[in-house]
Amino acid sequence: MSDQANLRVQRLRDAGYKLTNARLTILTILEQHGGHMTSADVLEEVDAVAPEIGRASVFRSLDLFTRLSLIRPTYINDSSTPTYVLLPGGHHHHIICTNCDRVIEFEDCHLEKLEHELEQKFRVRLTGHLLEFYGLCDNCAARQPD
Ligand SMILES: [Zn+2]
Ligand SMILES: [Zn+2]
Ligand SMILES: [Zn+2]
Repeated sequence: MSDQANLRVQRLRDAGYKLTNARLTILTILEQHGGHMTSADVLEEVDAVAPEIGRASVFRSLDLFTRLSLIRPTYINDSSTPTYVLLPGGHHHHIICTNCDRVIEFEDCHLEKLEHELEQKFRVRLTGHLLEFYGLCDNCAARQPD
């Protein structure tokens, strides 16, 4: 398992949850795909590697991971089906082209200061964020009339 995966397992344990076979299987599947899976994708994979894990427990695990900020549903392309993305280190960032749906991933967000301010201002404890910028990619921008 990667360091990031171990971190996620740790987060699960810290929150008081056991690493059941279903949870480990689903985390591993998400990990192998680098996130970006719909629940249907996850169900299909679970069925292939561990058919004894039921649909209900897949959905419960996805809900739990969402609550723990391990993953986050996002609505790229088709707004009716959320795609779950992993939040490595608690955050995940996209630039999405509104014309061709290209998704660009980036690592650094420099939002630590904002997070800190928000925690102070609203007296909350933040566990992660999903940041999405929308616009035109270089290809589409080049074709756009001014
Ligand atoms: Zn584009
Ligand atoms: Zn992503
Ligand atoms: Zn970030």
